[in-house]
Amino acid sequence: MQMPFHSSSATPNDPSWRTGLRLPPKDLRPQTEDVTKTKGTEFEDMFLRRELLMGIFEEGYERPSPIQEEAIPVALTKRDILARAKNGTGKTAAFVIPSLQQIDVGKNKIQALLLVPTRELALQTSQVCKKLGKHMGIQVMVTTGGTTLKDDIMRLQETVHVLVGTPGRILDLAGKKVADLSECPVFVMDEADKLLSPEFTPVMEQLLSFLPTDRQVMLFSATFPMIVKDFKVSLPRALPLLSVLTFLLFCRTNA
Ligand code: AMP
Repeated sequence: MQMPFHSSSATPNDPSWRTGLRLPPKDLRPQTEDVTKTKGTEFEDMFLRRELLMGIFEEGYERPSPIQEEAIPVALTKRDILARAKNGTGKTAAFVIPSLQQIDVGKNKIQALLLVPTRELALQTSQVCKKLGKHMGIQVMVTTGGTTLKDDIMRLQETVHVLVGTPGRILDLAGKKVADLSECPVFVMDEADKLLSPEFTPVMEQLLSFLPTDRQVMLFSATFPMIVKDFKVSLPRALPLLSVLTFLLFCRTNA
């Protein structure tokens, strides 16, 4: 079976901070083209913080995958993004890395809201945030339906920089003024096609109203079946941003 990615060790020419990294064992499994067909960008070319680079390399990510290569530099300019990439191609890190880069850990505010449609995906995404951000001192909280609201309320008394969760619970916490999203400049939707389905759109509209008007919106999905058109139609107030949306449609993924 072909696996999407493998990792490698630092080279002897690396600067000293790289030689101290705890790199995972090399993975020699064959890689598929949807992760190898890159332009040759390196993570070091992206002007990322050293602490973030350390987390990236210690996860065994040697260089960006195609979706990361395209999305991260655009996301770092704070433009809105619509990206299509198959699961397993590095999609999660493509939005987690630029989200983490923008966090000021000295500020006790939620600064990135990562929305996903399911509890399982929320847990996975928060793990990626924690691993990639482990040298940054970033506080990540995951919140989903099906857990005790009281626990979430207690947790939000403490510092949270990145909030990962499902829309209903986050709306509940924002509506109760427990989760303060008023200074959260980064808003991500993963599996955006599902989050923009009729079931979720009223919740999404309300949620967006809690964020600052100049927030950055990043939509990631494996498929976008005409959803953008529907999104514009159904959320006109929420999405003046889509007028400046950067379309990164990854047709090569054949999703
Ligand atoms: P995802 O598409 O987010 O589900 O990621 C699939 C797998 O690829 C996960 O196990 C990630 O840890 C891994 N991964 C993500 N980005 C990279 C990268 N640049 N190099 C190597 N592995 C990666």
